[in-house]
Amino acid sequence: RAKGAGRKSFHLYEATSRYDHVENFMNELALSKAIEKNELQLHYQLIYNPSADEVVGAEALLRWQHGQTFKMEPSEFIPVAEETGLIVPIGYWVIRQACRDWHHLVNEYGSSFKISVNISRIQLNEESFVARVLAILRAEGVQPTAMELEVTESTTLHSLQEVQLNLAKLREAGFTIALDDFGTGYSSLSMLTQLPIDKLKIDRSFISEGNLPLISAILAMANALQLTVVAEGVETREQFHLMSEMQCWGIQGYYLNVPMPYMELPTLAEISFK
Ligand code: C2E
Ligand code: MG
Ligand code: MG
Ligand code: MG
Repeated sequence: RAKGAGRKSFHLYEATSRYDHVENFMNELALSKAIEKNELQLHYQLIYNPSADEVVGAEALLRWQHGQTFKMEPSEFIPVAEETGLIVPIGYWVIRQACRDWHHLVNEYGSSFKISVNISRIQLNEESFVARVLAILRAEGVQPTAMELEVTESTTLHSLQEVQLNLAKLREAGFTIALDDFGTGYSSLSMLTQLPIDKLKIDRSFISEGNLPLISAILAMANALQLTVVAEGVETREQFHLMSEMQCWGIQGYYLNVPMPYMELPTLAEISFK
């Protein structure tokens, strides 16, 4: 009986995995056509500086709407895009679109407004990445100082020379470099002093846990290293006031706005909490 049960579960497993392969293939195929079919969109979340009562930026978050009903979360399709290399052309599309949207946003929020774009390790591994990004910005009339690039800790720790070199080149060209989801990776304190970065984004898990010792340690350390800090995933009024009182430079999260197209973003008057 045990043998039979084993065989049965084997078949079940095989069927599922074959189905997965087909599904993955269909997703890859669909994603590879997403740009030409106009299925990609950028949504934005404002980044607010409480001490100056200013919107200092917004993070671009990629959305994919395939057909009428099929919608996949970035946590599902970004890995597919990375595995297939599709993240490279998609990433250039994101940067170009963010540049176009920046012109509207800077009008609304003022000249110190920066647009943030997420960059994956696969993109930074391209030898021509920096040159192509600079060409896009030039063509769209945006200065590198108006754009922030967000990379995760694992990206910066990656030993590949190209990745490290490109990050340093981008920073030299004027881009702000932010370390995303900070606290969840494995960077040592000594590495942190050597990385070409300007900013830390505290992972939202620490905000939702209300992990105050950790948050204040990050703030103190960032202060000593002259890095600015943004708190991600601020959802409640309490969290918002707490992060303001703790002198966190930037605040981002559902409390300000859920990700939405730039035309729908709240104005400063609508998000003023003073
Ligand atoms: P991320 O860069 O850390 O972006 C923040 C994520 O947290 C977003 O998820 C956002 O919707 C979500 N979030 C923001 N505020 C709150 C909050 O108050 N509560 C909760 N529960 N969640 C909040 P999203 O849009 O699903 O994106 C997930 C990840 O996908 C991003 O994490 C980023 O790593 C990646 N991603 C998104 N767009 C791009 C892109 O254009 N290129 C690349 N390479 N990666 C991207
Ligand atoms: Mg990010
Ligand atoms: Mg993050
Ligand atoms: Mg994240």
